[in-house]
Amino acid sequence: MLSDYHVHSNFSFDSEESPDNIVSRAIELGMPCIAITDHQDFNWPVEGEFPYIDFDNYFSTLDELSSKYEDKIKIIKGIELGLVEDAKSQCQNLIKNNAFDFVIGSCHIVDNMDPYYSGFWKNRKDRDAFELYFKTLLNGIKSFDRFDTLGHMDYIVRYSPNKDTNYSVLDYRDIIDEILTLIISKNIKLEINTANLAKGFSFPNPHTDIIKRYKELGGEYVTVGSDAHTAENIGYGFDVAEEIIKNFNLNIFTIK
Ligand SMILES: [Zn+2]
Ligand SMILES: [Zn+2]
Repeated sequence: MLSDYHVHSNFSFDSEESPDNIVSRAIELGMPCIAITDHQDFNWPVEGEFPYIDFDNYFSTLDELSSKYEDKIKIIKGIELGLVEDAKSQCQNLIKNNAFDFVIGSCHIVDNMDPYYSGFWKNRKDRDAFELYFKTLLNGIKSFDRFDTLGHMDYIVRYSPNKDTNYSVLDYRDIIDEILTLIISKNIKLEINTANLAKGFSFPNPHTDIIKRYKELGGEYVTVGSDAHTAENIGYGFDVAEEIIKNFNLNIFTIK
């Protein structure tokens, strides 16, 4: 089975899964590698939440697991790093001072709020919110681009109260093209994040039309991640991702 390049363990504030359970499940599924990519979001605005990793503990735990399971699976020491305009130097220092194998860059914050929370959607139209999200993401990438893959590029769509009924990628064509062109020029891959499928959506993040556009603009490599926060969800929806990759003749990026 395809390796999972986006999984959260209890080093993330929003997961209680032990890294050992994650690795064991990936072995059970027959994955050659598993990337553990816990959350590090600088300047997080949500009160009571702390998306900051204890890195000493993180690296020693992942190193121990790598030795324990060295004959069975390769463990990729990853991170999901929040892209925010005002955290440029913190992100730079973090990447400089830690030997990550794999870095996902992603945007979780729009207008100083996480659209995961229903309060964000008060008095907002989907169209305006989605556009603002893409603009915020673009500025985030312009501010910091030392990462391997762009995580769940249209994350915000997951949490709209209207679900996917009003979402048309064409409405955001210019800004989406700008983001895709920028990442392609910087050799940043596009992630196909399948968490949406577990939530009942008919498309992953980003929408299949964005993945198609990535290819049209010259993108070649994608990464595939379930964004699982439990061992149970590892690899969920990878059959759909594989179909999309085959249809658009894309390649899957892997760490050697
Ligand atoms: Zn994320
Ligand atoms: Zn994630």
